[in-house]
Amino acid sequence: MKRYLTIEDVDVSGQTTLVRSDLNVPLTGGIVGDDFRLRASLPTIERLRARGARVVLASHLGRPAGIDPAFSLAPVTARLGELGGFEVIQLDGLYGPDIERAISAAPAGSVLALENTRFDDGETSNDPVLAAGLASLCDLFVNDAFGTAHRAHASTTGIAEHVLSVAGPLLVSELQAFSTLLEDPPRPFTVVLGGAKVSDKLGVIKALLPKVDMMLIGGGMCFTLLSAEGFEIGNSLFEEGMEDEVAQVLRGPYGDRIVTPSDIVVGVGFAEDTDHEVVARNRVPDDQIGLDIGPTTATEFARVIAGSGSVFWNGPMGVFEWEAFSHGTEQVARALVGHEGFTVVGGGDSVAALRQLGLEDVPSHLSTGGGAGLELLEGKVLPGIAALERWVDGS
Ligand code: AMP
Repeated sequence: MKRYLTIEDVDVSGQTTLVRSDLNVPLTGGIVGDDFRLRASLPTIERLRARGARVVLASHLGRPAGIDPAFSLAPVTARLGELGGFEVIQLDGLYGPDIERAISAAPAGSVLALENTRFDDGETSNDPVLAAGLASLCDLFVNDAFGTAHRAHASTTGIAEHVLSVAGPLLVSELQAFSTLLEDPPRPFTVVLGGAKVSDKLGVIKALLPKVDMMLIGGGMCFTLLSAEGFEIGNSLFEEGMEDEVAQVLRGPYGDRIVTPSDIVVGVGFAEDTDHEVVARNRVPDDQIGLDIGPTTATEFARVIAGSGSVFWNGPMGVFEWEAFSHGTEQVARALVGHEGFTVVGGGDSVAALRQLGLEDVPSHLSTGGGAGLELLEGKVLPGIAALERWVDGS
């Protein structure tokens, strides 16, 4: 059964489409850092323009407390326009008569952008006034923001109660990639998880273990697992209160599918230039911190990835921002790039790691969503997708 309509199901010519994109990119001093999400958003905008729609973009940016010029979308939409080779008319509000006038004055094919949706408190509380205000601007709502589809916010969920709403092409391609992993992953299916916190990923670990052939775990999160396995982890990252639950998973029916590192790069302090060495996992000194998976582990992980039919990767294997501790992540990234099966990379840090290594042009699905992908894999229904369902039967 069809769960949502797409832009192929509607005639957008001459229509004003409000596109919820995910333009939430790193911004420092008004300069856009990694523009991956902007590039990923462009094809949808271009398709709608080519079909004669007027495109009004909406997105949040960061976590402003109310209106704050430092969080204006203006530098982001300027960069988007540069990348796309079109002008983006940046508006200075979210809805109301001035915004309506500016939109109706713009010819078909133009691209306009509302301000940061989080300038209005009603965004995160899914306020019906904001949702109706946004809906009043358009004939059609296109949700293309996979990265925020797990949030029930006014611009992702509430708006869909008021106006015909469809999934954008980027959102559709993200959902298809994750549904392949969930429903019919080419075997063997390997999941590679890293990043700082095991608490962020325990839900997905439990949900995926019965479905995967192997789960390779590195990053800061592996130390709570190593500790639960009985190893001393020195001053490495450890999450109080998680150990029992982690131990239960490890001892559970699928616990033997989890692979933790056999060697670790340890450092004296948490610093870029700290002295460091490689040790076996049962030799982590009391006063040292695990900052990366060791070379034997990285080689083993790469070998498993190379022999997999499908791979999902989320989270760096170490503190990859620092060269000395980036090698584990790099080896995993290179194995993924060389891998011929089906690959999905999710989470800002993993995609950033691939881009940092110049490896982003790979035949993998690079996901624009971190948390949203993890929630899908956990089997949760994303509110932004559920909100589109009511339009399938034209209600
Ligand atoms: P997350 O946001 O959970 O995906 O975690 C990403 C962050 O985890 C990155 O900024 C890494 O630097 C950090 N990280 C990875 N491995 C470690 C580690 N062994 N110790 C501390 N932080 C780590």
